[in-house]
Amino acid sequence: MTGADLKAIISDIHSNLEALQAVLADIRKRGISDIICLGDIIGYGPNPKECIDLAKRFSFNILGNHDEAALWAESVESFNPVARAAVEWTRQQLEDSKDRTQNTKRWDFLGELQRTYRENSALYVHGSPRKPVREYVFPEDIANRVKMQDIFSKVDHVCFIGHSHMPGIFTEDMSFKPPQEVFNTYEIDSRKTIINVGSVGQPRDGDTRACYVVLEGSRVEFVRVQYGFEDTMKKIYTISELDNFSADRLAEGR
Ligand code: ZN
Repeated sequence: MTGADLKAIISDIHSNLEALQAVLADIRKRGISDIICLGDIIGYGPNPKECIDLAKRFSFNILGNHDEAALWAESVESFNPVARAAVEWTRQQLEDSKDRTQNTKRWDFLGELQRTYRENSALYVHGSPRKPVREYVFPEDIANRVKMQDIFSKVDHVCFIGHSHMPGIFTEDMSFKPPQEVFNTYEIDSRKTIINVGSVGQPRDGDTRACYVVLEGSRVEFVRVQYGFEDTMKKIYTISELDNFSADRLAEGR
């Protein structure tokens, strides 16, 4: 296999430039040029412009709920105060008139993000196959048969999601496996499968390292990449509009 047969699937960057750069370096090292991002390029973190500029080069980008909230003021209403303040600060950065030409391009890019993407038999969304931008599919949802059956009814075979920042594999027989349980490698079989690729910029599974997935045919590898989260934290602490919790959680992966 050469890098040309591989695809990197990343999600939930959340304006964390240090994490994104570390992940992109790891992807480059593997010779992979095909990158799909499942959304939430922005929100929470200190470098929205830089992260958008890097995301523009990906093969495809999906709309996340934080991207949507930056675009449409009314969609921020359901956000908690921490997330909402970050979205409002992010919007200000993208409205800065000193950077008007670049910012216009960034808004155009965000405005054109699609809610779903299909390639071969795979569906790519931010949240869930039935409500692509906002619905969460959590590991504990496997106990909710009605919800999961309806969600799987929208999947032909494989679906890649982000949004919960909790990496792992759901199969239609109501099973969830975190990456550790499969030693970070999983072979997709004939069952309907939903893969959560985890989060680049704000992991919440107790591991501080950035998380993403490499897809090689039917083989999925969960990759963790160490990055300098202390630098990201320092930046967040200096921006009063960003809540300190958005920094603190990076040191704990929660
Ligand atoms: Zn997110």
